[in-house]
Amino acid sequence: MEKVIIIGGGPAAISMAKIMGGKKHITIIRPENHSMIYCAMPYVIENLIPFNKTLKKDSLVTDTGATLIRDRVEKVDFEQKHVHTEKGNVYTYDKLVIATGADPVLPPIQGTDLQGVLTFKTEDDLKRIVDLAENGLRKAVVVGAGAIGIELAQALNSRGVQTHLVDMEEQVLPNLLDKEMAEEVEDELVRLGLTLHLGHKVLSLHGKRFAREVALDKGHTIHLETADNCSEDHEENVTPSLVVFAVGMRPNTGIFAGTMLATGRDGIVINDKMETNIEDVYAVGDCTQFTSAVTGDVSPGKLATNAVPMGKLLARNMLGSNERYNGFYNGAATKAGNYYVGGTGLSEKAARDRMDVIVGYADLTTAFPIMPSAGSVRVKLIAEKGSLRIVGGQIVSELPATDKVDLITMAVQFGLTAQDLRIFSYSSQPYQSYFPANNILVHAAENILEQDGAETIKKAS
Ligand SMILES: Cc1cc2nc3c(=O)[nH]c(=O)nc-3n(C[C@H](O)[C@H](O)[C@H](O)COP(=O)(O)OP(=O)(O)OC[C@H]3O[C@@H](n4cnc5c(N)ncnc54)[C@H](O)[C@@H]3O)c2cc1C
Repeated sequence: MEKVIIIGGGPAAISMAKIMGGKKHITIIRPENHSMIYCAMPYVIENLIPFNKTLKKDSLVTDTGATLIRDRVEKVDFEQKHVHTEKGNVYTYDKLVIATGADPVLPPIQGTDLQGVLTFKTEDDLKRIVDLAENGLRKAVVVGAGAIGIELAQALNSRGVQTHLVDMEEQVLPNLLDKEMAEEVEDELVRLGLTLHLGHKVLSLHGKRFAREVALDKGHTIHLETADNCSEDHEENVTPSLVVFAVGMRPNTGIFAGTMLATGRDGIVINDKMETNIEDVYAVGDCTQFTSAVTGDVSPGKLATNAVPMGKLLARNMLGSNERYNGFYNGAATKAGNYYVGGTGLSEKAARDRMDVIVGYADLTTAFPIMPSAGSVRVKLIAEKGSLRIVGGQIVSELPATDKVDLITMAVQFGLTAQDLRIFSYSSQPYQSYFPANNILVHAAENILEQDGAETIKKAS
C-alpha cells in the first residue's frame, strides 16, 4: 500500500485521514498532545464550555486506520524521501503532505518577553490566559481587532477584566467588513464595556515582570497598573496583566528554509491540485500560499474553512479523482455582543482597487417586524459595475448569519449577478425571516439594480 506521511495534526490533516484512512498507509506526525478546536478557545475563557471540550480525540485519526505519531518533524530529505523527527526517528514516504499550519505573529517590539504577553493559538496559550483570569487579572490589552481579537477581548471582558482592544486600522474587523458596516459592531463592543483604540499601532510594552504600560503611536499610552501593583518590588503585590497579540498568522515553514521547496510570503507555493514544486510533495491549509478565487491574486486565506476543503480535495485526488481547487472566497463570521457578523468575497474597498462597483444595502428584520423577537439585519452586496456580477457581501444581524454569508459566497462562486439574486426563490416564516414581501438578499440586489437603472437613464438622457 502507498505510504503517505502527513506532517501536522490540524483540520487539514484530519480531514485527509478521514477520507484516505484504510485506503492508503497514512501516518500523521504532530507534536502536540491534543489537536484543538481553535475556534472554540475564546468560549472556554468566557466559561461557556469546559476546556477539555476543545481537545480533539486521537481516535478521530486512529479510527480511520491512520497511524498517529507524536513527534516534531525537524527535516525532510526530499531526495531520499525521508522525514527526520525531533525524537531521532526517520520515516520513509511515497507521498508527503505538508499541513504544518500557521503560527501567530508576535511583532518585534520592546517588552514582548514580559510575563503575560502572549499570542493565542495553542493549548498552552489558552491555559495561561485562563490561569491569569482565575488569579487576579484585572486589566488586559488585546492587539488586533480581527475576529480572533474581538472574540478574545469579549471573553476577557465577560469575566470582569477591563479590556482594551487596539488596531492600527481605523475600524474593527478590517478584513471582514467595510468601515460603515463595522460601526454597529464597534458601538456594540463599547456598549459591552471594551475600550477601543482604533487607528493606533502598539510601539512597545513596559514593566518589570508584567506589562504596566502599552505605548501606542500618536503619543497614547494604555496604563495597566492597579492600586496593588504599583510597587512590583514586593512579590505579593504583583497583580498580573495580560497583553495578547492577535495580529495575524505566519505560515509554519521554518523547517523548509534553505531547501528546494518553493515558498512565498504567505506560505508554500502550490498549484490548484495542491502540488508543490517537488514531485510527490503536496501542501494544504494554513501553511500554503494560494490565490483568491475572485481576483486570481495571491490572497491570505488562513481559515479552517479553506484548510478542510483543500485537504479533502487532495485526498480525493490521491484516491484517483482529478479535481482542481478554485481558490479562496474567505467567507467568515464572528460574533460581537448581540450581533452576528460575517463577510465573504471582496470588500467594497478591495473591489474598488480592481474594478468599478455598485453597492446595494438592505435593512430588514430577522423575523416578521410584528413579532416580539424581531431584531435588525443589515446586508451589503458588492457587484461589479456593468456585469453586475456579485463579488462580495457582508452582514450584521441579530440572528446567526453564516447561512446568509454562505448564500452570498455561493452567488460569488457560481457567478450570479444582481439580476439573478433579484429573482432568487426564498422562504419566509414569522419567527425566521422578514415578511414574504421581501428577502434581505433580494432587497439588496434590487437596491443595486435601482442604482444601475438610474445610471442607465442618466446616460440615455
Ligand atoms: C483562536 C482561533 C480561532 C479561529 N477561529 C476560526 C473560525 O471561527 N473559523 C475558521 O474557519 N477558522 C478559524 N481559525 C483558523 C483555523 O483554526 C485554521 O485556519 C486551521 O486550524 C488551519 O488548519 P491547518 O490544518 O492548515 O493547520 P493547523 O490547524 O495550524 O495545524 C497545523 C499542525 O501542524 C503541526 N506542525 C507544525 N509544525 C510541525 C512540525 N515541524 N512537525 C510536525 N507537526 C508540525 C502543528 O503542531 C499542528 O498540529 C481560528 C484560529 C484560531 C487560532
